[in-house]
Amino acid sequence: MDTDSTDTERKLELSDEQWRSRLTPEQYQVLRQQATERPFTGEYVQMKADGSYHCAGCGAELFSSSTKFDSGTGWPSFYEPAVAANVETHVDRSLGMARTEVVCRRCGGHLGHVFDDGPQPTGLRYCINSCALQFDSGADPK
Ligand code: FE
Repeated sequence: MDTDSTDTERKLELSDEQWRSRLTPEQYQVLRQQATERPFTGEYVQMKADGSYHCAGCGAELFSSSTKFDSGTGWPSFYEPAVAANVETHVDRSLGMARTEVVCRRCGGHLGHVFDDGPQPTGLRYCINSCALQFDSGADPK
């Protein structure tokens, strides 16, 4: 996986100051500064409830509980996005590694990385920071 998905125009563009006021400090560091939360600390690591996971920055639907699996890594892991068009990937060469960064297409928020050691049917492991996500049980009609 060494290809960048096509960049599209952001639907949600906020100033740095607006992001800081909208997000918690931890969410800001992850979503806007590409930080990684410490493993086994996020609220969704062990989450098994049925529902959908949305971007904590903009609300875009990103992942479904139906593709979540226990990777043992300490981060919520999914084998595919719920809505492929809502996620884009970029090559990330930070920390002396070539990794594939996963980004919310709507707001450009950093979500995590995707690796090719996941389970079938895709063989992919989307390794996503809990604090970049907002779980929705679907109980409220939208
Ligand atoms: Fe977003």
